[in-house]
Amino acid sequence: MLAEDMEGQLKATLEKTDKKMMAQLKLCDTCLGRLYGKVGRGATNAARGEFVRAVLESERWNVKDCQMCKGLVDDIGKLADLAITTLGDWEHSTFLIGTKFDPELVEAEESLWAELGVEDAESIKAEFNREIGKIVESRTGKTAEFSSPDVVAIIDTLYETADAQVSPIFIYGRYKKLTRGIPQTRWPCNECNGKGCAKCNDTGKMYQTSVEEQTGIPALEISGGKDHRFHGMGREDIDALMLGTGRPFVLEIKEPRKRFFDLGELEQDINRGTNDIEVSGLRISDRDEVIRIKEARPAKKYRVKVHFAAPIPQEKIFEVVGSLGGTRVAQRTPNRVLHRRADRERQREIKAIEADVISPDEADMVITTEAGTYVKEFVHGDGGRTVPSVSGELGVACEVKTLDVLEILDEE
Ligand SMILES: [Zn+2]
Ligand SMILES: [Zn+2]
Repeated sequence: MLAEDMEGQLKATLEKTDKKMMAQLKLCDTCLGRLYGKVGRGATNAARGEFVRAVLESERWNVKDCQMCKGLVDDIGKLADLAITTLGDWEHSTFLIGTKFDPELVEAEESLWAELGVEDAESIKAEFNREIGKIVESRTGKTAEFSSPDVVAIIDTLYETADAQVSPIFIYGRYKKLTRGIPQTRWPCNECNGKGCAKCNDTGKMYQTSVEEQTGIPALEISGGKDHRFHGMGREDIDALMLGTGRPFVLEIKEPRKRFFDLGELEQDINRGTNDIEVSGLRISDRDEVIRIKEARPAKKYRVKVHFAAPIPQEKIFEVVGSLGGTRVAQRTPNRVLHRRADRERQREIKAIEADVISPDEADMVITTEAGTYVKEFVHGDGGRTVPSVSGELGVACEVKTLDVLEILDEE
């Protein structure tokens, strides 16, 4: 039964319909009702079709004899079973149904709309997506969601097959790097591009491990995911340590079989598996946070071990360090990156600098800088391309022995 106001609306719409043409159509009630699917709300197309047929006094056609769906409407339950089976392979709380139809059916539907001049028709695709979704919701207790479902089941109604499109999961955390010589992300061999060759000992890699692999592999194990991607808030040099509270990152896991697992357990798995890195504060994240992390421009605090080409009195070192704190430096693109970046000058702030003198020719310096500062160049001067510099002010050549990141100051 239809609501009275919908009956009125349907009658008014039918006034514009060519009844003789309608009488020649062999449509099941659902396909007939779908021609007026956008008139009113809260009724099935089958109920609309039944009413329209009564008003037009036209013949009733069984679904299997329907010229439009050719029996497909009777398969909705079976297609919902298929969707449930497909979705069941992937842990999820939200889902969405997508459908594919025989292009001839879609074309036949659209040309019928044109022939009849109907303006309130719904497509069979929209109807099936909704109706299958309703069945799946009621039978599984999961929620159909349009904006960002965990899994989309794409059902091919012609071949009765289904595929799953699984959304990645995102995990936020901070990492410390406690061993030098490890890149942040996977680094395929530049000779063979990952296939394996003599240069890389058939590993396909330039470096045997990375922060990405040491976090990503345990995450794949616990989630049953297919692949990982690592998004760091910037990156340190391969030979630099990452200390303090660590560097923020978001780990993306593609096609996870499980998405609701214990992140504390994953944190333990990662930290137990290696002495090279340590992660903390793992929590569920999203794609927006990846963007936030990639766009962040945090200040950073470094520890630099500096060797002087000649011995320098302690007072001179303290005097220079004292004069450089809070200054702005002009840095032309460093020599070492000139082959891949344009030569230009930028101004950066040295927020703070302190020295711990180890010997007349060596000191540890703790330097806090604005994002984008070339710290090594600030120390050794880069042949006069960075002004002022520690080396320039001391009047002696400086060599950076090690450079470590003490803190990413992203919470300021
Ligand atoms: Zn039909
Ligand atoms: Zn290779």
